Amino acid sequence: MKITSAEFVKSAVWPNQYPPATMPEIAFVGRSNVGKSSLINALVGRKSLAKTSNTPGRTQLINFFTVNSSLFFVDLPGYGFAKVPRSVRKDWGDMIETYLRERRNLALVVFILDVRRDPSADDLSLRDWLDHYRIPYAAILTKADKLSNQQALGRKKLIEKAMGKGASGNTILFSAKTRKGSEELWQFIERHLSGLENR
Ligand code: GDP
Repeated sequence: MKITSAEFVKSAVWPNQYPPATMPEIAFVGRSNVGKSSLINALVGRKSLAKTSNTPGRTQLINFFTVNSSLFFVDLPGYGFAKVPRSVRKDWGDMIETYLRERRNLALVVFILDVRRDPSADDLSLRDWLDHYRIPYAAILTKADKLSNQQALGRKKLIEKAMGKGASGNTILFSAKTRKGSEELWQFIERHLSGLENR
């Protein structure tokens, strides 16, 4: 995919603050520190479009970007900080669930997991929401450069099994460091979007 433009649009919490749903949207989500910002930046070939390293407990927002003036990319706040107070966890849950339920132009969720870790309870809850709202997702196993190819393929099998049948056929090994998987993910996104157009 040739990227001609990638621009920040706005941050939001609730639907009345989202930009108008004028283009298909791809949302990126995963636990904090999983490598979400690095993945977004690698996909659009920018160093710091998405900001890396969120601070635990800070008020977190949904960030909207446009890509090639034809797509929205949405950076959803990361989850899973052990020390976050219950009230912040609940706010996160309300914000994300509302987004997933309400956003009509949401075409695909890019669900980011660390290739070295088993899916957490939070990851599995997110998967349940996606299944519940029938939102298609690609499972991206990032930091693959930290394993040998052989090890990474083994982890991919295990994670697919833990995620259940929704993950089979849409799991991609990725590395922001080497860009491995970047082209494959773009192809997945493009195939998915053209499938939507032809419906
Ligand atoms: P976020 O909190 O999910 O947005 O995660 P970041 O993108 O800020 O990444 C968290 C940490 O993991 C940073 O130190 C990154 O440099 C590192 N990281 C992210 N992606 C990769 C990757 O593919 N390979 C390696 N080796 N490190 C990565």
